[in-house]
Amino acid sequence: MNFLGRAQALDAADPLAALRDRYLTAADNDVISYLDGNSLGRPLKATADLLDSFVREQWAGRLIRGWTDGWLDWPGRLGDRLAAVALGAAPGQTVVADSTTVLLYKLARAAVDARPGRRTILLDTDNFPTDRYVLEGIAAERGLRLAWISTDPAAGITPEQVADAVDEDTALVLFSHVAYRSGWLADAAAINRIAHAAGALTLWDLSHSVGSVELHLDTWAVDLAVGCTYKYLNGGPGAPAFGYVRKALQPELRQPIQGWMGHRASFEMGPGYEAAPGIRAFVSGTPPILAMVPLDANLDLLESAGIAAVRRKSLLLTDYVLELADAWLAPHGVTVSGPRDPARRGGHVTLTRPGFEKLLEPLWKRGVIPDYRRPDGLRIGPSPLSTSFAEVHDGLAVLRDLLESRA
Ligand SMILES: *Cc1c(COP(=O)(O)O)cnc(C)c1O
Repeated sequence: MNFLGRAQALDAADPLAALRDRYLTAADNDVISYLDGNSLGRPLKATADLLDSFVREQWAGRLIRGWTDGWLDWPGRLGDRLAAVALGAAPGQTVVADSTTVLLYKLARAAVDARPGRRTILLDTDNFPTDRYVLEGIAAERGLRLAWISTDPAAGITPEQVADAVDEDTALVLFSHVAYRSGWLADAAAINRIAHAAGALTLWDLSHSVGSVELHLDTWAVDLAVGCTYKYLNGGPGAPAFGYVRKALQPELRQPIQGWMGHRASFEMGPGYEAAPGIRAFVSGTPPILAMVPLDANLDLLESAGIAAVRRKSLLLTDYVLELADAWLAPHGVTVSGPRDPARRGGHVTLTRPGFEKLLEPLWKRGVIPDYRRPDGLRIGPSPLSTSFAEVHDGLAVLRDLLESRA
């Protein structure tokens, strides 16, 4: 069977194939292959309808009454939904708020303050830039030291590396669950055990895992986590982030942006800050309700598909990417810079080759949209619910043709 035939057979056997029709295509669509679901997911048709009816009915109709009708509860309500559908977490531990960067700051600052006397934050060199910058700021603010684990940019953080680096001075360890560059899927449960044995807290960035791989935050004994809702959760550009704080830790942690929405009684307008009980204390200001509307539609779909089925399809999609990369692209000097082992592979595959930068524009012109990461990486991130195998085939065929025509 040729590769197109294989894509068609995989599509025919895909139990989630019909869900692709739930996504919106622009009237003047010029995209034949969207391979960047790990950076910005596509919108659902239901999202457009929900936003329209929200503006017309909820906003225009309820006006200020909307806040007490329910909007004020959305950070916790959506957090609990997300926790049940995608995080493997019990209710009362997750909020939707802020951006990933801001929530990361709030949780990391709270964590280091809860381990006074410990002076080190442990992270790895391939962590996402915003994570590194935020921790750099916190270290300066609190007089702490950053300890770096050098990770192979084509792989990722391992329990052995953490065991070698963590000690009685470590307050916090922060890693990405799926590395943004290589797609390496870290063993969160094992790393948590090692960090906890040394008395450190753990904070996981789930931006590249949520909605594409199975998460079991409660079972894995994760202390803290943050992540985006605009990647595999298709929440829309700049949609708010989510933060998870393990129940048992909540009374112990105090986050630094104490705003009125995290106050015990927001509308008493009292003289001093008194933290709300539970997870609400991690909210700071007015929730971005409009930007939260799409999340419900996406969680409805994810709930009906089931995250286990999504992960199964994701692995089949990236298997197929690897197959095409080996057959078509390797002869043109393209290498796979990431894990082939499905147990360590997240939802995307990174291909590297010097000069990829110059291919980005011609790819876009032909309606093929992968993700580019400096200096020479193309990330192929087929979002499982919105991408067909034929779409992967067509996109990588264009890439192959471009490489051939330049050879
Ligand atoms: C995309 C991403 C972010 C983005 O943070 P924002 O505050 O939304 O800009 C953070 N961390 C990781 C690992 C990401 O992949």
